[in-house]
Amino acid sequence: MGRRRQLYEGKAKILFEGPEPGTLVQYFKDDASAGNGAKKGVITGKGVLNNRISEHLMLRLHDIGIPTHFIRRLNMGEQLIREVEIIPLEVVVRNVAAGSLSKRLGIQEGTRLPRPIIEFYYKNDALNDPMVSEEHITAFGWACPHDMEDIVSLSMRINDFLCGLFMGIGIILVDFKLEFGRLFEGDNMRIVLADEISPDNCRLWDAKTSEKLDKDRFRKDMGKVEEAYQEVAMRLGILPEATNSDMKGPEVMQ
Ligand code: C5P
Repeated sequence: MGRRRQLYEGKAKILFEGPEPGTLVQYFKDDASAGNGAKKGVITGKGVLNNRISEHLMLRLHDIGIPTHFIRRLNMGEQLIREVEIIPLEVVVRNVAAGSLSKRLGIQEGTRLPRPIIEFYYKNDALNDPMVSEEHITAFGWACPHDMEDIVSLSMRINDFLCGLFMGIGIILVDFKLEFGRLFEGDNMRIVLADEISPDNCRLWDAKTSEKLDKDRFRKDMGKVEEAYQEVAMRLGILPEATNSDMKGPEVMQ
């Protein structure tokens, strides 16, 4: 892999300049963090698994007409994506009570919600990603009402599809976080799904045993984190190729 200019480093991914204008390379790190960076660790093999799982899910979503930033996977650790203007929102969709919803509203973890619930959080580490309403979002100009219509309808379609896909492999999609971006093509702008969909940002429970197959294993020090991610990849039918040769990230140009 040639030398590429690093544009951004997040907690779990690095973005590099892509080979053509309007493209980026997204590299998946093994680094894990929880509680807005309060807890840090490394889950060996996580980057490779998330790259494959996210590729698979983005391609399946593309097949049903969901626009995404994904172009193609480049190697074990990297994928080529379209450069988008990220909307500074974390969009959480919930089907079953867990995590912060259970804590905030006192609803027992595992309670099925009467219908899927969408929540919005303002992406801002310094403020700890506070929950916001559509009023805040449109008043402060993070997204306009038309953007929000697209974001909500895409999120609901993604949820419906992924619930079925995971149910088919014996997994309950409890909740997940999405990010969206604006893709500019000439005079047109489209809202597209961005970031990643992986066990880092989904809660996935085994349908029979309720065993957690996601990052909660890391957050709660339950152990067997990589094994859980591997189990998800295996059930999706996408176990990684058995080679470590191209797992390394590209050289960074300062
Ligand atoms: O913590 P909480 O219950 O609000 O998380 C809801 C969902 O959003 C979980 O699947 C979690 O993995 C995901 N999430 C995320 N990134 C965050 C916060 C939550 O991926 N910063």
